[in-house]
Amino acid sequence: MDLGTCSRARLARDARFDGKFFIAVLTTKIYCRPVCRSRTSKESNVRYYPTAAAAAAAGFRPCLRCRPECSPGTPAWLGTQNTVARALRLIDESGLEDGGVEVLAERLGIGARHLRRLFLRHLGAPPNAVAQTRRLQFAKKLIDSTSLPMIQVAVASGFGCVRRFNAAIRKVYRRSPTQIRQLTRQKAMSAENQYLFRLNYRPPYDWQGMLAFLAPRATPGVEIVADGIYRRSISWKEHHGYLEVSPDEKNHALAVRVHWSDPQSLFFIIARVRSMFDLDADWTAIAETLKCDPALRRQVEANPGMRVPRCWNGFELAVRAILGQQITVAGASALAGRLAQSFGRRIELADGLTHIFPSPEVLAGADFADMRLPASRGETIRGLARAVCDGQISFERILDSDRFLERLEQVRGIGKWTAQYVAMRALGEPDAFPSADLGLLRALGLRSSRELDQRSEAWRPWRAYAAMYLWSAAHNGGDPAHPREHERTRRPNLSGPVRPILPSRADVPRRMTINN
Ligand SMILES: [Zn+2]
Repeated sequence: MDLGTCSRARLARDARFDGKFFIAVLTTKIYCRPVCRSRTSKESNVRYYPTAAAAAAAGFRPCLRCRPECSPGTPAWLGTQNTVARALRLIDESGLEDGGVEVLAERLGIGARHLRRLFLRHLGAPPNAVAQTRRLQFAKKLIDSTSLPMIQVAVASGFGCVRRFNAAIRKVYRRSPTQIRQLTRQKAMSAENQYLFRLNYRPPYDWQGMLAFLAPRATPGVEIVADGIYRRSISWKEHHGYLEVSPDEKNHALAVRVHWSDPQSLFFIIARVRSMFDLDADWTAIAETLKCDPALRRQVEANPGMRVPRCWNGFELAVRAILGQQITVAGASALAGRLAQSFGRRIELADGLTHIFPSPEVLAGADFADMRLPASRGETIRGLARAVCDGQISFERILDSDRFLERLEQVRGIGKWTAQYVAMRALGEPDAFPSADLGLLRALGLRSSRELDQRSEAWRPWRAYAAMYLWSAAHNGGDPAHPREHERTRRPNLSGPVRPILPSRADVPRRMTINN
């Protein structure tokens, strides 16, 4: 980004640029988000940094007013194949606690010095500074928005011990953690094991569009979309709980309430929720590219801010995609509900959330005879589950998407369509694109996936967003329409039925309960 753009965004307090750069003020030695309401400084007193870590590394302290820790994340500007983006994902999942930069570089298959150079070029700070800033930011969030004892905040944000945590907070904020908590003057503390976070995005954000996609696909007993709120059961490392997500448009945020007994996993859970709802997307860049295609332009302008709905659990999403092959979305959701009830762990959490989605270990040997599931589909699910149990396929810490997808397609019954769909929604590849999809072909009046591939070249690297727009428009509500994947050589049959699945935007009901 050039200085002129940064300057204009700063003076306009433009929320679309929130998280894309930070403003440091030489006179106060403090850095802010572009949306900060503090008095605007003279341009000559201002420096711009690409990340909070870069501003911190240059000796600036975070503003207590605009709270840089609340800004939307670094845009996924080059997709997950980019080394820096992959490294950031690993840091989000592990906090760089187990082994430091050397181990991180090794996992990425490059040298530590090269990784350092890449970080400096793209983020303006070395990996350990980025990790340290993320830890501090998360600690600040926990101090501000929870009533967790400080010792638990220290552990949950990866500091290991309270002494290190206190020292780090004091150094950066010139206040003790307790003094910072007093500043927020929280009125109502939430109940035990409940945490409320506000996760910011860069506007616009099409929440209704997000729900319109998620609602018909909600797995009964595991997910519920009702009253404009998304809820689901979650499990991680032997713990289970649930989360509720609702919009907070005024603050350009989603409100996320996590019901969870182990504060140590909150860092991971929040990173996962940010990814699930695609909060780091850089809408301005996406819209600019997609608007070059006249067919997309109309839709982008009519419904700005559409995101790619990702998932809580990649294995669950892949199973759901297999169940959906060649049947309606409603049929697939009902099947997924029966699968969860037959094989998932039963839990008593909240109204309607009765099960945890079954694990690969359980499904690897599952007998689907009672499920009215085509035998080949059952075999594909077992094949996928076995590959996960054997370690052939891992949905965690995916480092190389191409290799991952190759292995996924080796499972009998998983073809290119399912693989690209999984890449879109489980890997978060912004450029993934199921070009064999009948709904996409039909939306543009094209006859072959080759034609679609050619046309979609201009949408790179945002083809997943183009797919979302085209599905949503296909009848003001088209949907993924699978070609027959187990007959791989067969060409898409354009005279076949493309099923109407998504409700039209106008039809998205206010109340949508998918749990009966
Ligand atoms: Zn500020």
